[in-house]
Amino acid sequence: MRLAVIILCVIMGKHIFPQEDKFTAARNSMVKTQIIGRGITNSATIKAMRKVPRHLFVSRDSENDAYGDYPMSIGYGQTISQPYIVAYMTEVVRPSDNKKALEIGTGSGYQAAVLAEIVDKVYTIEIVPELAKESAERLNLLGYKNIIAKAGDGYNGWPEHAPYDIIIVTAAPNKIPEPLIDQLAENGRLVIPVGEQGRIQELMLLVKKNGKIDKTRLTFVRFVPFRRSKD
Ligand code: SAH
Repeated sequence: MRLAVIILCVIMGKHIFPQEDKFTAARNSMVKTQIIGRGITNSATIKAMRKVPRHLFVSRDSENDAYGDYPMSIGYGQTISQPYIVAYMTEVVRPSDNKKALEIGTGSGYQAAVLAEIVDKVYTIEIVPELAKESAERLNLLGYKNIIAKAGDGYNGWPEHAPYDIIIVTAAPNKIPEPLIDQLAENGRLVIPVGEQGRIQELMLLVKKNGKIDKTRLTFVRFVPFRRSKD
């Protein structure tokens, strides 16, 4: 049924997903209490969080929990972040319609979709091949033509399309990968959780100004580990 609705929307060339669905009320309430209620003020971020159908980014069995105030499993030991964290990371990179973004850790594709509602282009990389395939199909069905996804280890970024105004990393390495800093544009903003596995991690914001990096510690977080491919 859900697929049928999406396919119908694509065929009819309308909004790719219905603006009203059975979770509209849950989504609006999530935005009101978890997003605006906790201090997110960026209007583009709020609008995107109101629009993207989060329930289509989790398994069918758990769609009723999709607007809850917690991260959720998306299989393969990975998670979709709590809505507030997605909104916070989106706001902090100051998205706007002329910007180019890189995301490391596509996962379900939800963060990529939220960004893609605002910025010009989103490049996103996922290391688990099955997740990369699933999320690319999902984003394609939902009509996100400005998201370019690939499977692989995002440690080295995506040099072909660099520099990026925005880089969002959604898995936690021990140290910030140097290639990502190199691929940040002048005035670009990179947000990344940093810390050892199983320990408290810190969300860091890096801003490039006159070629130099300004680093700010934002808050404590808990993300899945940043992995490296063996080849
Ligand atoms: N942004 C995602 C959150 C996914 S959790 C969402 O909105 O759903 C983080 C993801 O990062 C996981 O899917 C994990 O497999 C992936 N990941 C971990 N290390 C990675 C790496 N080196 N390169 C690319 N993806 C990585």
